[in-house]
Amino acid sequence: MVILTSLPLFEQNSSFVDYSSSIYDIPYKTFRMRKYDYYIWLDVNGDSLLPSYNRMTIEAVEPTDSVYFHFILRDTAHGSDLSIDSIRFIHGADTLIPYYRLIEDTMVVVHLPMTIPSGQRFLIEVYYHGRAGKRPSFAWGSSFMVGMYWFDSAIFTHSEYYGTRMWLPVFDNLYEKVDTVDARIRVPYGWYAVSNGHLVDSLALPDGIVYWWRESHGITPYMIVFAALDRSRYLILDSTWTYGDVNMPVFVYTDSDTVPTLRYMTQGLDVFSTLYGIYPFYDEKYSEVHVGGGVEYQTNTFSHYIFGQRVVIHELSHQWWGGYVTCGTYNDLWLNEGFATYSELLYMEFADSTDVSGYRRSYYRQYLLRTGIHNVPLNSPQYDGSLMWTYLVYDKGAAVLHMMRYRFWRLYGGQYSGDSAFFQFLQYYKNRHARSYVISQDLEQDVESFTGVDWSQFFEQWVYTPGHPVLDVRWGKELSGSLWNMAVVINQIQDDSWGFFTVDYPVRIRFSDSSIVDTVLPLTGASSDTFYLSFVSEPVSLIMDPDEHILDKVNSLVAEDEINETRLYRIFFRGDNLFIRTPEDDMYRYRIYSVNGRVVSEGKFRGPEYSIVLDVSPGIYIVELLSRTSRKVFKVIK
Ligand SMILES: [Zn+2]
Repeated sequence: MVILTSLPLFEQNSSFVDYSSSIYDIPYKTFRMRKYDYYIWLDVNGDSLLPSYNRMTIEAVEPTDSVYFHFILRDTAHGSDLSIDSIRFIHGADTLIPYYRLIEDTMVVVHLPMTIPSGQRFLIEVYYHGRAGKRPSFAWGSSFMVGMYWFDSAIFTHSEYYGTRMWLPVFDNLYEKVDTVDARIRVPYGWYAVSNGHLVDSLALPDGIVYWWRESHGITPYMIVFAALDRSRYLILDSTWTYGDVNMPVFVYTDSDTVPTLRYMTQGLDVFSTLYGIYPFYDEKYSEVHVGGGVEYQTNTFSHYIFGQRVVIHELSHQWWGGYVTCGTYNDLWLNEGFATYSELLYMEFADSTDVSGYRRSYYRQYLLRTGIHNVPLNSPQYDGSLMWTYLVYDKGAAVLHMMRYRFWRLYGGQYSGDSAFFQFLQYYKNRHARSYVISQDLEQDVESFTGVDWSQFFEQWVYTPGHPVLDVRWGKELSGSLWNMAVVINQIQDDSWGFFTVDYPVRIRFSDSSIVDTVLPLTGASSDTFYLSFVSEPVSLIMDPDEHILDKVNSLVAEDEINETRLYRIFFRGDNLFIRTPEDDMYRYRIYSVNGRVVSEGKFRGPEYSIVLDVSPGIYIVELLSRTSRKVFKVIK
C-alpha cells in the first residue's frame, strides 16, 4: 500500500522552486488523503478570505500518529498573510484539539492525540483566514504566478505547479489524488462561483450565496481550482455535448458573447472521445473560464478566447492526459504536455482530415532549433527548472509519441491497422492508470505488454538519453546489366553522448520515369549503415523522411557520382538462388530477413562468392553480412 516506491525520494531540486530551504516534499508517509471538503468565504472588497476551512479525510495506510500537509501561510514578498485559527482532529465520536507545528510557514505537522491503526480513517479540519497571495511558479524565466488572483470582477486560483498550497491546506504532490473534492465557495450576491466537477447545490444566505461543487473522480492537487465571477461582467454560455447516450453540459464563462470556444470544445470532445475513450468526466461537465492562463484544471480549464482553437484543444486533451492520468513527477511532465501537444496534431488530422506532416515539421523544428534544450533527457527537465515548460517537454514529447505511433504502423502492417492498434494501446494505458499517475517507465512497460515487442531501445534513445539523430547521407547509383544499383550510406554524426539511434528510417526515391518508391532503411544503432538497393528504373533523387516521422536533423545529403562499394558487393536473386559476391575472401556470417523482420535463413560462408537456395515467396528481403571488420545491410528483391 505504500504508493511511493517507484518515485524518486525527492521530486525536485529544492533550490529551484524558490522556496529556499523549505521542506515541501515528503519521501514517505504512513497516510493517504482521501477527500478534501473545503469552504472558502471570499471578502471581495477586502481581497481576503473570511473564516474558511478544509476538512481532510485521511486514511492511515500504516499506524499513524502524525500527519503533514503543505500550506504556505506567510510570504510577504508575494502578498500572502494567512493565519490558522484552529486545527481539529475527529476520529469516530471524538473531536480533539491536536498539537501542531509549522515548518517554515510551508508545511503543517499535526501530532495526533492517538495512533490510528492502518485502514482507519479520520478527519483533520484546518480553519484559517487572511490574505492568500500568489508567487512565481518556478524560479527562472517565467512571469506565471500561482496562488490566488484578486481582481475587481474575478477572483480565482492558479495552481500549476505547487500553487494549491498557496490558498488551501493540501498534500500538494502530483501523485496524491483524492477520491472526492467538495468545494463550497461563498460569494456576494451578483457573483457566481465555478469549480471542479458538477454543481451540487447553491445556498442563499443573508450575506451571500454558497456554490457547492463536487468533483467525484480522483483529482491531483494542482487540478483543484475555483473562480468567482462578477455576473455583471461575465456571461455564462452553455451548450450540450451529445455522444452516444451521453448528454453533458459544456460552459464558457467569458466576457464576450461571440466566442467560438463552445464549438471547439464540442468538436474536440468528439475527436478525443473517439481516439482515447469517452471524456472521463462525462457525468460532470466541461467548462472554460476566460480569466487567462491557459491551464488545464479538471473539468474546468482556465484560458482566454484570444488564445484561439489550438489552446482550447490542447487544454481539453489534458482532461485525459493530466487529469484522468497524471504524470507522477514533474520529470515526467512530457506524459502530460507531450501528449497534449500531440493531441493538437491529432485533432487537426482527425477533425479536419488535414495532412499534418507540414505541421509536424514545424513542431519538430521548434525543438530542433533550440540547441539549449538538446542535452537533457526528455524525462529529466528538472535537471534545470527553466527547461520544464519548454519545447523539450512539449515538442520532443509530441515527437516521441508520434514515433511510437509510427512504430505501430510498422509493427501492425500499415497506417490503418497500426492506428487501430495504437489508439487501442492509448486506451489500454489510460485505463490501467485511470485516476492515478504514471512515470515514463509505466508507458514503456505498458507498450511492451500490449505489443509483445521490446521497446527498451526506443525509450533508452528517445526518453532516457538526450538528443536526436544528426545524419550525414551519401548515395550513389550504377547501371549493372538491366538493373540500377543504388547505395545509400547513412552516418550518424550527432554528439557522442547521445549514442547512435536504432530507427526504421523512411525514405522516398524518385526515378527518371517520374515514378516514386517509398521504403524504409533500418538504421541499426551503428555509427554508419550502408544500404544497397536495385531498381529497373534510374533513381534520380533521394528524399529523407518525406512525411516527417522521425525527430532528426539531416545535416547533409549528397548524391555522389558513384559508390565504389556497389562494385564490390553484388547480391541478387536468380530464381531461388541468392548469389553473394564480396570484396574479400574473409569469413562472413549472413542473416536474411523478410521485410517484417522474420529470419528466413542464416549461416556462414567464405567469400568472395557464394550462393544459397532460398525457397521463399517473391518480395523484398534484407541481407545482413558481418565480417570481422564490417557490417553491411542490403535490400534485395526476389
Ligand atoms: Zn499543456
